[in-house]
Amino acid sequence: MTEKSRLSIQDPNLFDYEVKSYPQGYVRLDRNENIVIPNELVRKLVESAFEDLDIRVYPDENIVDYISQWENVSPSQIVVGNGADDILYKLSLAIYRDGGKAILNVPTYSMYRWFLERVSAEISEVLLKPDFSLDFESIHKNYDRNVKAIYICSPNNPTGNPFNKFSIKRLLDEFDSIIILDETYSFFSRERAVELLREGYENLVIIRSFSKIGFAGIRFGYALASENLASTIHRFQPPYSVNSMTLAIVKEVIKNFDLIENVIKEVVNERDRMYRRLKRFRELIVYPSEANFLLIRVLEGSFRGLLDFLLSRGIVVRDVSNMPLLKNCFRLSIGTMETNDNVLESIKAFYEEFGGVYNG
Ligand code: PMP
Repeated sequence: MTEKSRLSIQDPNLFDYEVKSYPQGYVRLDRNENIVIPNELVRKLVESAFEDLDIRVYPDENIVDYISQWENVSPSQIVVGNGADDILYKLSLAIYRDGGKAILNVPTYSMYRWFLERVSAEISEVLLKPDFSLDFESIHKNYDRNVKAIYICSPNNPTGNPFNKFSIKRLLDEFDSIIILDETYSFFSRERAVELLREGYENLVIIRSFSKIGFAGIRFGYALASENLASTIHRFQPPYSVNSMTLAIVKEVIKNFDLIENVIKEVVNERDRMYRRLKRFRELIVYPSEANFLLIRVLEGSFRGLLDFLLSRGIVVRDVSNMPLLKNCFRLSIGTMETNDNVLESIKAFYEEFGGVYNG
């Protein structure tokens, strides 16, 4: 093998995640960020977080004590990382470094596949039911001794529905693999599974993130798990992985979480208002959501035509129509009231202009 070919070892079959950029002025409603939180509030929190910061030394690791008190789980059950993605990646590495199979319940967050392919895990995809609930029968059919983990996202990206405690408990009881429960969107939902950890389930890992509550830029996420699993994940995280600026901001956010709660309430109210308003369009189906986005199916008129029309007005949404069960569907993040009204007005204008006959 020549040096060149050794350096260019690449698997052309690896799934890639496309990060798109748009010129300034476009409203990004395709990434589920939180633009509802006033930037002044974020800046204020960052400023006070940095007051006592000493960048000359390595970050201290007492962040787990803060999260432990806040989440009411023991510090030994917490692992922190650079966003939920970092935790998910390390977790895949820890579980699959010596092979094995994973079950994904699709449609779901496409990055699970990205991580699993890179650690050479075998992937088995199980379709959700048409109402987006878990298909236990099908999970059982695909389950065998090689399955080391089942991935669940609740509320699920991009369908928006949560899986309640009973279905998570059922998974934990019926399967002896690890259940990876991605709760990145749980701040917007009534469903949380942390109680199950307190009940002593050994095979549960819950993943959380600060990205959807207004802090996507700091890249912070963490896992809550049984002590056993947490220490395993920890062994795959190099020391001092999360930088001290991020950690300082996280502490400040936790200290002031009542302010963040108000923002979350505002997003939830706007989401529910958008749901009711979008339901009035007979050309669309909008699905109930407990996340900070809505899944919308275009029934009449051109799907592509609508997305292009929104783009021509500077509104970017996420096309998820190539995912199983999601023909002609797009995902819309919830923005400020003004932004959301602009989306409603633009959809209305599209149908007024082109009606159901416009075919792109
Ligand atoms: N899980 C899900 C379901 C997500 O949608 C995302 C972000 N889009 C992540 C994890 C990654 O979150 P983070 O920004 O904390 O890495």
